[in-house]
Amino acid sequence: MPDRFEAVQDALLCGACGGQQRYDPASKGLICDHCGARSDIIDDHYLDARREMAYDPKKAEEPPAIDHAHLCQTCGGEVVFVGKAVSDRCPYCNGPVVLNAGHAHYIPSGLIPFAITQTEAMKQLHGWAASRVGAPNDLLEKVEQGDIAAVYAPFWTFDADKTVSYSARKRVHRGKKTYWRNIKGVTGLMLDDQITAASDHVTPAIRDGIMHGFDPALLRPYLPEYLAGFAAELHGTNVSDGLGHMMQDLEPVVHEEIKRDAGSRSLHSIHYTSKLRDVRFRRVLLPLWILHYRYGDKAKRIVASGIDGKTFGERPFSKSKLVGYAFVLAVAVFALGGVLGIAASGG
Ligand SMILES: [Zn+2]
Ligand SMILES: [Zn+2]
Repeated sequence: MPDRFEAVQDALLCGACGGQQRYDPASKGLICDHCGARSDIIDDHYLDARREMAYDPKKAEEPPAIDHAHLCQTCGGEVVFVGKAVSDRCPYCNGPVVLNAGHAHYIPSGLIPFAITQTEAMKQLHGWAASRVGAPNDLLEKVEQGDIAAVYAPFWTFDADKTVSYSARKRVHRGKKTYWRNIKGVTGLMLDDQITAASDHVTPAIRDGIMHGFDPALLRPYLPEYLAGFAAELHGTNVSDGLGHMMQDLEPVVHEEIKRDAGSRSLHSIHYTSKLRDVRFRRVLLPLWILHYRYGDKAKRIVASGIDGKTFGERPFSKSKLVGYAFVLAVAVFALGGVLGIAASGG
């Protein structure tokens, strides 16, 4: 495997007309925008993409910087890759160009290809805007004027056995009196495919949204064919940083587990230490449709999962509608407390 990034275009050329092909979520193959020919993707090693790697802190290398200029094979134009971008279109002829990530410690172990087309994503995103309770009347109109972009965003998946040793104060009732008693305990969590964002651009809400559609059976190897025509961002942190973020994300879950183990909702002064064993991970890219729109002077975005179309986003509230909906919202926020509690404290 080469130890540097190389641009790939040969694999993306149309066998019928020599034009450039892109990944087509509808047919799960390549499609030529020039002549319309379709071809299948040869993906013999798809099982490798599901494999988890054992975590070794000594091998948690920093990601290398991408700094690659590629001369487009179709038109000779220069395509410059900077930052963490590995997939782009030639600015001169619009042909897809993908970098083959040669660094063994950096290449994604797998990705889930887009299954939702742009048309389907738009339908979901507009539907989301149209069904917001308490939203201003012109929200849908603003959203329809927005710009849509597709990106493969970087994530980690982790498996681990987590042992938690805790101390806390527990409320106990004896007759009509209440006491606070010091308690100690040890409990554990089995983590399976815990998803953690590997980019500052991925908010906890996006992570939670795409987490529901994640199924390791959908993973495919990092092949330029799957990326062609879509933007992609590689991991900006190493696996140790990813593990640290996962531990932070899990804090509310650990607190819940301690309460369960102690058999009480009324605990305070919870302190704990935890140990991870048998940590295994994957470095994956997951597909997102992102719609950017402006409301008033604020930039906002709505995101649809490229796996199943599940949509989540930022929206303004209408002040006049808010009064009437205040009660409904309070109930909804209460009902979502568990979910949002995790989202709010994550990362
Ligand atoms: Zn063609
Ligand atoms: Zn070009």
